[in-house]
Amino acid sequence: MSSPESTTRRIAVIGGGISGLAAAFRIAELAPQVELTLFEAGERLGGILGTIYDDGYLIEEAADNYLTDPPAVLRLAERLGIRESLIGTEPSQRRAYVLHDGRLHPVPAGFTLMAPSQLWPILTSPLLSLRGRLRLACERFVPRRGDDEPEESLAEFAIRRLGREAFERLVEPLVAGIYSADATKLSIAATLPRFVEMERRYGSLTRGAMAAARARRQSSVESGARYGIFVTPRDGAASLVETIASRLPPGCVQLNSRVEKLAHAGGAWELSCQAAGEARTASYDAVILATPAPTAAMLLEATDVAVAGLLGQIPHAGCAIVCLGLRRDQLARLPEGFGVVVPRTEGRPILAVSFASNKFPARAPDDALLVRVFIGGALNEAALEQSDAGLELVARTQLDELYGVRGEPQIARVVRWPGSMPQYHVGHGRLIEEIETRVARHEGLELANNALRGVGVPQCIAEGERAAEAVLAHLGQYDRDAAGAAASATSTAATEHEAVPEK
Ligand SMILES: Cc1cc2nc3c(=O)[nH]c(=O)nc-3n(C[C@H](O)[C@H](O)[C@H](O)COP(=O)(O)OP(=O)(O)OC[C@H]3O[C@@H](n4cnc5c(N)ncnc54)[C@H](O)[C@@H]3O)c2cc1C
Repeated sequence: MSSPESTTRRIAVIGGGISGLAAAFRIAELAPQVELTLFEAGERLGGILGTIYDDGYLIEEAADNYLTDPPAVLRLAERLGIRESLIGTEPSQRRAYVLHDGRLHPVPAGFTLMAPSQLWPILTSPLLSLRGRLRLACERFVPRRGDDEPEESLAEFAIRRLGREAFERLVEPLVAGIYSADATKLSIAATLPRFVEMERRYGSLTRGAMAAARARRQSSVESGARYGIFVTPRDGAASLVETIASRLPPGCVQLNSRVEKLAHAGGAWELSCQAAGEARTASYDAVILATPAPTAAMLLEATDVAVAGLLGQIPHAGCAIVCLGLRRDQLARLPEGFGVVVPRTEGRPILAVSFASNKFPARAPDDALLVRVFIGGALNEAALEQSDAGLELVARTQLDELYGVRGEPQIARVVRWPGSMPQYHVGHGRLIEEIETRVARHEGLELANNALRGVGVPQCIAEGERAAEAVLAHLGQYDRDAAGAAASATSTAATEHEAVPEK
């Protein structure tokens, strides 16, 4: 804690994933006079963001593409001076496939997650029966829902607007591929608020998607935009993490430092951590808790048992990604597009397959492909009980059935993400409001994580930046009103990222 005669303020950021890094960088940018410490339990920064470089392959361990709207990633990259290093998806491959009755069908052109912006591709898609196509095409005539009606699950919303068949064959697999989730439990308002807004504003998802497509065409003509809806760092997520770390005050990052206790006493935050087998304590004027929600719950127990209980109510699902490097001549049929999503009704043990080297350049040697197979999710968590060899076998068998694969892969890596994907179930909005109301009662405390207002990397960055500005304002180190709208993007209107983007 600052001594009475000292005016230097001390802030601790706990957690060195993208939420904590964005918070720390924002503090360094706005208030270099502040004494900042970033505690990270692991031996590297980045948390879920990590990249493996192996034998000519660039393999993202988890997130591999970020939405450009909200533009938090673009703005952060701009401020870091690395905007040119962000690349868009490969235009010639911008399509995805869905498996139906064991056969691959393109997701109808213009269909984004659950909103069709073109009717003809839907009316001619062999993916749906004639009845299913007509039902989907009639979406624009389905009456708008009243504002005072009870909150809907994602499944209820999609079935009401698009019909059950479109839900089962298109929406559910696309959503499962993104959120590893059970669509019958997800809250549509918390998970994908933009579709609720589309219905409210246009009375229909079709009309809303058509208007959005027109606006995008117009703005990309006017702005000469060089990206699609998604970007990624050319040299991998790890390069973004390294750049942020390099702009933090020297010595502020404490790796291998797991915070184990947090208590608020006498106006200061007392923090205890284990670093290199030693217990250390220190006190701070403000704390940003940027760990996953279950850890934040554990750390807040001593301060506010009710808020800890509320955070503990947010469920998390897990998945594994089997990353395979294959020579092109090992495949009987070369995969096209960004990937394939697999409906539950197909009864297969995988969620989705993403063709990383079709999406972005330099992910694999020229004569090879990088494929990532997603397994698990809320509906199949038991799959993660298998050994790495078991998961690899599942991935290779499924890939063989779909594309005909000969021989051993050049590389195979299994990355596990147990309990890493927060699930915004029905009631999430109310839960978050309660958490935020309670957290606001504790001076100098902010939360920033993917369990609150968006799981995607852009939303985590926005949350980290918001938290940084809030603690600085509380400590009188930054005048939010004078600064006007912060350079940070704080829109929470969109929460998705996609395993297989840009349908
Ligand atoms: C498989 C998968 C694929 C994804 N794909 C995408 C995608 O393509 N696009 C997208 O936008 N988003 C994607 N996401 C979501 C996104 O990557 C995450 O939501 C985001 O990276 C979370 O960042 P975070 O900083 O909030 O949490 P984390 O990355 O989990 O970071 C939290 C950090 O806190 C540290 N920590 C924990 N406890 C302590 C403690 N006690 N003391 C100190 N440190 C502690 C951890 O070690 C960790 O480094 C994906 C997520 C997963 C799991």
